[in-house]
Amino acid sequence: TYIIAQGGKGGRGNKRFATATNRAPRYSQPGLPGVELKLKLELKLLADVGIVGLPNAGKSTLISRISAARPKIADYPFTTLTPTLGMVDPGFGEPFAVADIPGLIEGAHEGTGLGITFLKHVERTRLLVHLVDASGIDQESPLKAFDLINNELAKYSETLAGKEQIIVLNKIDLTGTETRVDYFKHALNKDNFLTISAATGEGCDHLVNIMAERLSQEIQE
Ligand code: GDP
Ligand code: MG
Repeated sequence: TYIIAQGGKGGRGNKRFATATNRAPRYSQPGLPGVELKLKLELKLLADVGIVGLPNAGKSTLISRISAARPKIADYPFTTLTPTLGMVDPGFGEPFAVADIPGLIEGAHEGTGLGITFLKHVERTRLLVHLVDASGIDQESPLKAFDLINNELAKYSETLAGKEQIIVLNKIDLTGTETRVDYFKHALNKDNFLTISAATGEGCDHLVNIMAERLSQEIQE
């Protein structure tokens, strides 16, 4: 319980002023005014995991693959206009909530596209899944989409930028993505990322396990 606007002190009624000779005094003490505020309340989703990535990366497809949520899916950007929340049951440990954060594009922190309307929802997630469309990776700048999203997160808040990320390359069912994954790997200079196909389900169970593992580690820390 949190008191936002403290009520005023109540006055004392006339009974409190009664004496033996004056049993019904005409005097009472008025109460004091309470705090008055105009408030705008904002509801934040509480998800354990937030999925971030450019429009079309496959966020909605992934969330419908790993949970019972059925968000709108289409091959044009901004099909998802509100965040989708899905519960994931990893098969071991506690079920957890995953939210898909739509509309992150370059300039989102300045209000471009859907802007940062939804970023506030990922602020309190414990873990981010950074989803990248592997078919969109090009040789010249393999990290373009990845860096762009990280930039937008950083410009919005330090907390978000510092949040632990599971990097996931999606759409590996498409031909030619193998080479593109290699470009990404070399540019990143690390291979601590996962590859999945949200469409076929390849790698998705593994991803769910990793999420569950990271979440349980966090609780122990
Ligand atoms: P979002 O904007 O990030 O939510 O992306 P969507 O989930 O709406 O997916 C965008 C498009 O990519 C849709 O046409 C999906 O069917 C397609 N898509 C998503 N995941 C995969 C995948 O693993 N493989 C292929 N081939 N297509 C995918
Ligand atoms: Mg979507």
